[in-house]
Amino acid sequence: MNQNNKQKLLAVADSCVKCGLCLPHCPTYTHTQNENESPRGRIALIQAWSNGQLPISPNLLNHIDSCLLCRACEKACPAVVPYGKFIDDFRAEVHEDKKPPFTARLLKNIVQNKNSLHILKQTLNFYQKHNIQALARRLRVPTLFGLKKLERLIPLPQEAPILQTYYPAKTTKKKETKGDVGLFVGCMGELADSETVFSTIDILTCVGFNVHVPQHQTCCGALALHEGDKNTSDHLATQNTNAFSQENLQAIISIASGCGSTLREYNTVEFSSKVMDISHFLMQKEIDLSNLLVALKAKVTLHSPCSLKNGLRTEKSVVKLLQQIPQIALTTLPETIQCCGAAGSYSLRHEKMAQTLLDELLDITSPQSTDYLVSSNIGCSLHIAAGLREKNMNIAVIHPIVLLARQLKTAKAS
Ligand code: SF4
Ligand code: SF4
Repeated sequence: MNQNNKQKLLAVADSCVKCGLCLPHCPTYTHTQNENESPRGRIALIQAWSNGQLPISPNLLNHIDSCLLCRACEKACPAVVPYGKFIDDFRAEVHEDKKPPFTARLLKNIVQNKNSLHILKQTLNFYQKHNIQALARRLRVPTLFGLKKLERLIPLPQEAPILQTYYPAKTTKKKETKGDVGLFVGCMGELADSETVFSTIDILTCVGFNVHVPQHQTCCGALALHEGDKNTSDHLATQNTNAFSQENLQAIISIASGCGSTLREYNTVEFSSKVMDISHFLMQKEIDLSNLLVALKAKVTLHSPCSLKNGLRTEKSVVKLLQQIPQIALTTLPETIQCCGAAGSYSLRHEKMAQTLLDELLDITSPQSTDYLVSSNIGCSLHIAAGLREKNMNIAVIHPIVLLARQLKTAKAS
């Protein structure tokens, strides 16, 4: 191991005063009551390993791998221990010593390659349109091929036009545009969340922004980063930084908080400082959509992804934005609900914990109290929607911006 990296890990570990204030906020500790499954315990394990007091072992790797990287501990920590980066850095050091399961490796390889994503999209369309999905599930084909955990996440089919690289503002001649923004679509946007992509474009152009969608953008690299594959995550970061350097953009808009929190932490400050979640961007710009929106008489429950509340820390913007919809009955999930268990590829690696956390959320949700469950992160949405389908609970899971765009009046020029 590189001695310099070891010293860096020790310096961060030393900044933890072992007070334990983070423990009640940690989902894995809450459910196991095992100190090794807590933030403080994991820091102590890495400290002991870096000191040479603890050898690398499957047990050590498992305790670190079972961390969701939800960063609830980081938010609660009075000593401001940069826990998320600390775990990422440790995982990068031991990357060669562990092999993630097949489904997690498959997902990581697909999302970082545009050709693979395109082929997968065509395959999924065929799979769903020709009713093969239902038949395959009945015959337990995904289980036989070891793909059940991945297959359950497939969303309902979405029809979408081909994505262009530029959408001009829909302004009248009397009004100037508000400027240019870039849209980060991410690997999952086009594949599994095209309505969010086009809703974002609709809203942004409607309120006066020109939207650029750089063609050479790629996956944000979160899956690779959190797995410890630093070479891949660095390569993807460079590709995205270059893709968005062409335009004079006042902001780079992310529509999945998991991607957004990763993009915000790229080393290139000119890029990362411009990244904003769509809801936060609209609220920062004091965009008032209320006169453009049709009333919605529906019960809407807001799910705040960990990457939004503990990473980006902009969950309040989503509330303010949704409150612009006339007559909306908006509630938020109680504070006791921790991470939903999706956490990137976590649900593929730690099925039991992911299901326990999901069940907690589903147990307090019912079609009687909720028409829509809105979430700003596609990974959480797919995981929660799969859980709802499996429990035959008819609740739509959508992005907040989709809810807004569906309420846009037809005469929508600014
Ligand atoms: S709250 Fe911070 S300082 Fe206290 S034990 Fe947790 S990580 Fe360490
Ligand atoms: S990131 Fe989340 S799961 Fe990991 S130690 Fe912190 S609170 Fe626990």
